[in-house]
Amino acid sequence: MLAESESKISGKAVAPPRTGSLARRLVLATLAFCVLFTIATVSVRTWFAWGNNLATMNAELGLIDQVFQGTLSKAVWEMDSEALQAQIDSVALAAPVGRVELRILRPGRAPEVLERQHPGHTGSILAPALRRQLTVSPYPGANEVVGELTIEGDESLLWRRLWKEVGIIMLTQIIQSLALAGLIMGMFNRSVTLHVRRIARHLEQLTPQNLKQHLTLERRGKASDELDLLEAGVNDLQDKLANHIERQSRDELALAASRDQLAELVEQRTAQLKAANIRLEALTRFDPLTGLANRRHFDELKELEFNRALRHEQPFSVLMCDIDFFKLYNDSYGHAMGDQCLRDVALTMSALFSRSGELVARLGGEEFAVLLPGQTRDQALASAERLQQLLSHQKLPHSASAVSPYVTLSIGIAELDVTTMERFDQLLQSADKALYRAKSLGRNRCVI
Ligand code: GH3
Ligand code: MG
Ligand code: MG
Repeated sequence: MLAESESKISGKAVAPPRTGSLARRLVLATLAFCVLFTIATVSVRTWFAWGNNLATMNAELGLIDQVFQGTLSKAVWEMDSEALQAQIDSVALAAPVGRVELRILRPGRAPEVLERQHPGHTGSILAPALRRQLTVSPYPGANEVVGELTIEGDESLLWRRLWKEVGIIMLTQIIQSLALAGLIMGMFNRSVTLHVRRIARHLEQLTPQNLKQHLTLERRGKASDELDLLEAGVNDLQDKLANHIERQSRDELALAASRDQLAELVEQRTAQLKAANIRLEALTRFDPLTGLANRRHFDELKELEFNRALRHEQPFSVLMCDIDFFKLYNDSYGHAMGDQCLRDVALTMSALFSRSGELVARLGGEEFAVLLPGQTRDQALASAERLQQLLSHQKLPHSASAVSPYVTLSIGIAELDVTTMERFDQLLQSADKALYRAKSLGRNRCVI
């Protein structure tokens, strides 16, 4: 499968690997064994056949001897040459006889030899030979040797018989071997090769998606063997793989979900942190009660505006405002109402001084400062009076005040004097002094 996917990627066609057949190899091995076995068997059986043939030929020669010995002895004794020739010919004609020799012994004479042999007989080394003396008894009790008979077996007949038998042995062995090989091949094919191929095909077609499809070998009989073990093993492996993949994808999903959740959480926390930072920033720069700039922010900007005015030689004024009799306000309306009053005054001030560069700050308690860049003392005075006017229109009740039934402001005004002032604090001090004068002059007024 790996090779297949690689070939798909590379786009090259790869020829499927040549598969040999187990059954064929088994059969070849069986045949080779049969050949060896046949050679051995043929050798052994040939050896025994040879022995048997020799014994058979011996028996045949013995039989011929038994048949002819009496008549031959008689013919020699009676010197019946015609009968002798005829009988010798008969002996020589018998199938197992290769050569026959008759020595006729007569006292005082050289032995006469009669000999016959099969055409083509050239003497034999391996064939058996039978030698016997021919005797007659002319009267009871007398025994006289009249000749000597030698019958040699026909060796070529021995070989012919042997070859025939060897042929039969070989034929039966070969048929037996071929039948055995065929049987093994057939059985092996049916009970192994077929199923192994089926397993290979099944494994080849396996993908992570079809792991649930089990391997089933169609086999008859219930005998459980190695193939059953293999089948069970493959199915078990598939199950385990399927479970593993399922668990893995579940884990991946869970991981992705928790990753998303985490990202969301991080985003949420970052937003919260940003908001907290903004709030913190506001806390460090703005007064939480009124929302106006606090002292710190005021201190940061005051020098900037002061120096800009110096550089551009422009007018620059400052207001110092203080709510009149605020302690009494708290005493008569309560601290919470006091806070609300501070918020109302702050709102009025920030609504009025909203031009660029103008800054209203709560310096502490019920004291406020206003930076008015670009305004001369008269313009600042007009602005201060406008503030008082706006506040009076609001009519915030203050029954404890000695100067008005409503909340009022005392305002000290100072303008930058480049000849005498080098630092902002000098300007602020001047405004503070003016405020002090406004207080001491009776409150609810503006003093430059
Ligand atoms: P004056 O007219 O001379 O300014 O008199 P005053 O009573 O306004 O001045 P004083 O300095 O005697 O009192 C200021 C009071 O302001 C005292 C304090 O209780 C009150 N105060 C300061 N800060 C706050 C605040 O944040 N909330 C409230 N409700 N009261 C405050
Ligand atoms: Mg005060
Ligand atoms: Mg006051």
